[in-house]
Amino acid sequence: MKFELDNIDVVVSDLDGTLYDKRHIAARLIKRDIRHLHYLLSERLARKHLRGKSFGSADAFYSAYFEEMARGRMFTADDARRWYADTYMPTMVDIIRKHYTVQNWVPELIRECKERQVPIVVYSDYDFVSEKLQALHLDEKNFAFVVSAPSLGGLKPSKESAMAIINRLGAKAERTLFLGDRDDTDGGSARAVGAKCQLIKNTDK
Ligand SMILES: [Mg+2]
Repeated sequence: MKFELDNIDVVVSDLDGTLYDKRHIAARLIKRDIRHLHYLLSERLARKHLRGKSFGSADAFYSAYFEEMARGRMFTADDARRWYADTYMPTMVDIIRKHYTVQNWVPELIRECKERQVPIVVYSDYDFVSEKLQALHLDEKNFAFVVSAPSLGGLKPSKESAMAIINRLGAKAERTLFLGDRDDTDGGSARAVGAKCQLIKNTDK
């Protein structure tokens, strides 16, 4: 894997599907407990519905997200909230710990960025970012900071969420490189703020 780091001051990397190959992760989750399926489907739909919208705060985002998940379902927004925080995210972390490893190119990227004094931010569309990095045996000290889109008030490709990261580092968007596995979310975040983007395939070594 080769990264274009010339004229780049900041790297903003996605987590799931980028820092590790997340194939089969949903199947593994459902295999643990079939009851996940019901929530998982509504979670995916809610995510699609809220994608890119900014709610101004984490609280406002989460209210809209769990409301949307529960719309027309047999469970309430509070049930969805509990499932997400107490079951879904912790189970994902456990599955990552047991079945997944960081991509081969990640240590090399960290080394090269350190050499160039280019900070790396881990920017995920999901929470439990620190827990997932720990499960991948990736030291958080390698990164300037780690952050989730929900905590910034809006899912990728929210312009406000992406801009909040760039501003926090005092960087220029045109000198920021987004890394990710999805064009609609990661590429979309970069385009929303006028940053550069490099997409990574799950099979990239
Ligand atoms: Mg991803």
